[in-house]
Amino acid sequence: MNKKMSITTKILIAMAIGLMTGSLINLFAQDISFVQTYFVNGLFHVVGAAFVNSLKMLVVPLVTFSLICGVCGIGDVAVLGRVGIKAFVLYILTTAMAITLALGLALLIAPGEGFEQAAGTGADFVAKPAPPLTDVFINIVPSNPVNAFAEGNMLQIIFFVILFAIAMLMTGDIGRQLTKTAENLNEVMMKVVTLVMDFAPIGVFFLMAKTFSIQGIGLIMPMIGYFSVVILCLLLHGLGTFSLLLIFLAKLNPLVFLKKMRPAHVFAFSTASSNATIPVTLQVVEKRLGVDNSTAAFTVPLGATINMDGTAIMQGVATVFIANVYAIDLGLVDYITIIGMSILASIGTAGVPGVGLIMLAMVFNQVGLPIEGIGLILGVDRLLDMVRTAINITGDATVTCIVARSEQTIDDKIFQNPDAGVITEIELPHKG
Ligand code: ASP
Repeated sequence: MNKKMSITTKILIAMAIGLMTGSLINLFAQDISFVQTYFVNGLFHVVGAAFVNSLKMLVVPLVTFSLICGVCGIGDVAVLGRVGIKAFVLYILTTAMAITLALGLALLIAPGEGFEQAAGTGADFVAKPAPPLTDVFINIVPSNPVNAFAEGNMLQIIFFVILFAIAMLMTGDIGRQLTKTAENLNEVMMKVVTLVMDFAPIGVFFLMAKTFSIQGIGLIMPMIGYFSVVILCLLLHGLGTFSLLLIFLAKLNPLVFLKKMRPAHVFAFSTASSNATIPVTLQVVEKRLGVDNSTAAFTVPLGATINMDGTAIMQGVATVFIANVYAIDLGLVDYITIIGMSILASIGTAGVPGVGLIMLAMVFNQVGLPIEGIGLILGVDRLLDMVRTAINITGDATVTCIVARSEQTIDDKIFQNPDAGVITEIELPHKG
């Protein structure tokens, strides 16, 4: 009897075929306008973008209902504050560890020393101004919640929904009735996630095919030094730092954790967006890792918005790389500034593709590196973005597990069960 192939396996296969198709087109069909017009910029683009839209479509309603359930599930404002502070501190700490690791390794390996600037690279890069830091904080409070929802501004949505849910807790019976409704809506939204996931193999195939048709694997060659140092740091942080944190703080087996995270990794990698991946991360963390909704509903969207370890790593390595390329000496104070700025940039970076690079301008400004240097790393950024987004969401899930352990809201039985939450098609769990 053939066991039905899980959706994750299908997505992985689609991803690999998409990657190969795209790379082949990049190698052999770059000048064939028919292929470019009808496939790369036609079919691949349309289906891929529609798929990302369908994921983004889930984020706002899912986070809203799930967060209401989470806050009401915690039931106590003091506990909510404690969970919030723990998550926030851990998010900042892991980002600080990430950037320190990146700076250490980049200084050791010194990518970019003696780098010959290839003609045409970067000269045309125009840096978009990074938002002033003060705005990042002011804008946490929405002046108009409807606008926040319409724009999908996560921090503002989180702020308003938490306030709303706290008010629900404080209004007794009325609040309790609403909680029941929110729970039902949350259940339905989770089902919508499963429905969208059924199309994921197709979506992921086209996304990968489009990206690699345009990027091609060969593009990384001139930048191989920078590229490899970023990847090395991402892997060390992803496999090393997080594993240690999981073992010592969450008392969990990192191998089981990584295996169960696979669907979320695949989505993060192919969409390069922590935000668009929120529905999958939430589902994985709750249904496969066993974290209760009362913790995950809060920490996952928060992490996807403010916690970007992978991005901070890219920024650390990029800073050392560009300083080397332009032969600019950075001192201790500069490095400390870089650590601080990267943490702030990580908070300010929205979980969408490419924003990490825009925020890098803020870091460069602060230590006096030429902004146009960003143009040099632009070419390989999309590929790095995919990998760092996977690391970003791994950080969110790791911190979620640590907080859940300390709050005793993780179910070890679910975590240990290899079949828990395995996402297959047409699986219709009926509750109660
Ligand atoms: N794409 C990243 C994310 O969504 C952010 C970035 O580094 O650009 O997590």
